[in-house]
This record gives sequence, structure tokens and C-alpha cells, in this order.
Amino acid sequence: MTVRVRFAPSPTGYLHIGGARTALFNWLFARKHGGQFILRIEDTDQKRTVAGAIEAIMDGLRWLGLDWDEGPDVGGPVGPYVQTERAELYCEWANWLVEHGYAYKCFCTPEELDEMRKEQMAKKEMLGYNGRCRHLTPDQIAAKETAGLNSVIRFKMPRNGETTIQDAIRGPITYQNSQIIDAVLLKSDGLPTYHLANVVDDHFMQITHIMRADEWINTAPLHINLYHAFGWELPVYAHLSLVMNPSGKGKLSKRTQAFDDDGQQVLVKVEEFQEAGYLPQAVVNFLANVGYATGDDREKFDAHEAIDSFRLEKINPAPSRLPYSKLDWLNGQYIQEMEPQALARAVKPFLDAQGFEVNPEALLVVMPAMSKRLKRLPEAIDFLRFLFDDVPLNATAEMLTHKKMPYDAAKRGFQEARDFVATVEPFNLDTVSTGLMKIGESVTTNEKAGPFLGQMRFAITGQQVSPPLFESMVALGRARTLTRLDEVLQLF
Ligand code: GLU
Repeated sequence: MTVRVRFAPSPTGYLHIGGARTALFNWLFARKHGGQFILRIEDTDQKRTVAGAIEAIMDGLRWLGLDWDEGPDVGGPVGPYVQTERAELYCEWANWLVEHGYAYKCFCTPEELDEMRKEQMAKKEMLGYNGRCRHLTPDQIAAKETAGLNSVIRFKMPRNGETTIQDAIRGPITYQNSQIIDAVLLKSDGLPTYHLANVVDDHFMQITHIMRADEWINTAPLHINLYHAFGWELPVYAHLSLVMNPSGKGKLSKRTQAFDDDGQQVLVKVEEFQEAGYLPQAVVNFLANVGYATGDDREKFDAHEAIDSFRLEKINPAPSRLPYSKLDWLNGQYIQEMEPQALARAVKPFLDAQGFEVNPEALLVVMPAMSKRLKRLPEAIDFLRFLFDDVPLNATAEMLTHKKMPYDAAKRGFQEARDFVATVEPFNLDTVSTGLMKIGESVTTNEKAGPFLGQMRFAITGQQVSPPLFESMVALGRARTLTRLDEVLQLF
């Protein structure tokens, strides 16, 4: 049997981090078993559909590197993969259920349903449709149809007995059938509800395992009875644990830019993680840790390692919080592993957004030094501002001295540095570091270059935080370094 799993978001906006985690677990499972990961868009609730949402969801998945084998854009053998494009199929199967006695037409109006609800509340009865149209005779149905009444199709849920979900993560979960109402399958506009479309699609798309958020557990007994009515083979259910806010209090917010009870900002859109300067591989690692026990204490593992070790049995059914506090650390680890070119590419959009004109070679020079210092990519903006802003140094000569390098010594040091920079060939990390060390050792009272190099760094970058001096100078280039040194000398 080939494993076939799907991620089936409704296009109501953006890719939520909880949804991304569902997608990731499906993807890991598919990749582990050499199966297929399918993207299906569940857009039958047209009122909730938002323009551009499908693209936004696909962008989020792509950014995370969760590639799908079949889906709306790439197609596949059992498409289309957008539910509103499959409307006829649902109609056909809803009618099949009616013809075979598993479903019925319901003519109750919204007002009547409202009335029903009020009565149930007054009598403290179970809320929900009471099956009033379940026993209409063919004549009664014909009469209502002739009168032009609108109808929906409802499932005839077995009244007795129980339904057990064999959940691969949670074990058996049993529901009394009497607790489950006769759900609407096809609405009066001819579009299916989630229940019908979901079951029909999972069957025809040959889905073998349904891995989804635990908020859908309650729908499983209805779905299982639908499978039975159709005579279709059941997929394996695996309901993932609830994702909580970082404090562990409450389900993870759906709001963007939300704050936890503890005041911690909670990123919820995948694109917010991107904007905050997290790397996709760090976010994937972070998500793979949510409700998943690797079996050892490892917290850092990349997608390949996650695929290798992925097992349904290792998914923890208990609610788990998103470990935001680990994210910066993880991101820093992945940044350190990046090649300078890749890091420069990742940092560049953040510098571009500041209007900095980025010279790719200069960036490359500072990247190795930066990689150890960055937790989030936008931190590079403050580190590297000196490369792009030619603002005059806001300092006095006194500020450029040191107790081991008084005024005259400092002046001499900067002058020698200026002459050295003007003439050294070639102007590179090697020559610059050797030359400046020597100058530094000759101008300090303790013959150590440190005090001089520290002041040089301030003189060149004007910043408290910056890449190391030599990298900064080489990135800046000979001409601009000279200009800055000339400005510094005028202070003396
Ligand atoms: N369309 C549902 C959602 O938005 C999918 C639920 C399922 O996977 O069955 O989450």
C-alpha cells in the first residue's frame, strides 16, 4: 500500500502556524514512507473564502520546503484539487445516499430550525436537528418539492449503537450514535458541507491516513458512518495534539500579532516568522518538536533527520505549547551552519527593505563574522548600518583615546593607520590585520593592540555593535575607510 496523505486547508486567509505543523507532520509521514503528500483546498464554505488565500497558503508551504506531489497548481491523477471544482461529484454521492436510504431531504426553514433550538434549550434537551424530516413519505416530499420549497440533504445517522474511532495516536475513542445529529451533507445551494466533501475526496483521492488537528475528532464518528454507508474502506485516523499558546494557557490564538496571557508576543502566521527573520529550516525544526518525542533529548534536527525518525506512535496526544523560547536559539544554530553566500542571500532582503544599497562582495566579507552573532536575520541591519550610512562620526578626540593610549598616541595611531590604508597592497583581511596589529602595538603603553583596535572599530563603524574591525574595513573598501579616517584625524 502506498501511503497517501493530505493537507486540506480552507482558504480563509493565511497559513497559520498550527496548520503548518499539521502539514509538516503529513509531509514527514509521506516522505518517510515514500508516499504522496497532497494539497487539497476545502473551499465549499464560500462565505469564509478569502481572495488570494490559496496563493498565500501555497507560498507558506513552499517557504517551509513542504512540497506537495499533487495539488491545485501541479495537478495530479485524482484532481481537481479544489473542492468547488468538484461540486458535481458531491451532488452525485449525496443523491446516491438518498436513493439508498442513508440520507434524506430536509425542508426545514431557518426559522423552523431556530424555533426547534429554542424549544430544546427550554426543555434542556440535546441541541441540534431533531430528525423531523427523516420520516417524510415520498408523497410528502413530492408535495413540498412541487410547492417549490428549498431542501438540504441530511445524513441518516444510526440512532442506536456506538461508533469507535481507532485513532493511531490516541487509541480507541467511542461515541454513542444517539449523541450525533443528522448532519447536513448538501446545502440548498447545491454545495456540499465539509463532512460530505471531505469524505468523498478522501475516498476518491485514495487517502490512506488522515492526520489532522484534534479539533476535528468530533466529526470522525459521523465520517466513519458515512464511509460505512458508502461501503468504502476506512482510512487510518491520527488526530494531532492541540497546539497551545506559549504559556500553556489556551489554544493557540488565531489572531495575528497576538499576545499570550504572559504578555509574550505570539507569531501565528507563517509569513510573520519569515518577516521576523527566522529561517524556514529553523521553523520546520521548531514545529517538528511540537507534540513529538524524538526518543532522545535532541532538540535540533533537520528535515531529513525528522523524516528518518518519524513514527506516528511517537506523536504525543497531550496538548503541547509552541516552544517560542527555543526558536531564537534554533535559528542561531541554523544561521551558523550557513555558507556565507547563503547567509548573504538570506540577509539581503532585510537590508534592501531598509533602502541600503547592498554590495554583494562587501556582504560576503562580513558574513562569516556575522553568522556567529545573529539570532534573527534583521539583527544584521544594526550590525551593518555603517556599510550603508555615511554619517559623520559623532565623537570627540577624547572619546577616541584610551588610558593605555593617550591623546598623542591615539593621534599617531590614526595617522599611521591612514597612511597604511592608503598604500597597502593588496587591501585584504590578511594585510589589514597584520598592519593594524603592528600599529596598535606600537602606540599603546602596554604594547598591546587591543585599545587601539577597539577605538579604530568605533572610528570606522561609529557603532557599538559591528562586525570585527578588519572585516568591517575590508567590507567598507579602501576609499571609504580612508574618508572616515580623514574625518577622524580632523577631530585631533
Ligand atoms: N478543511 C479543514 C481545515 O480547514 C480540514 C480538516 C481535515 O483535515 O479533515 O482544517
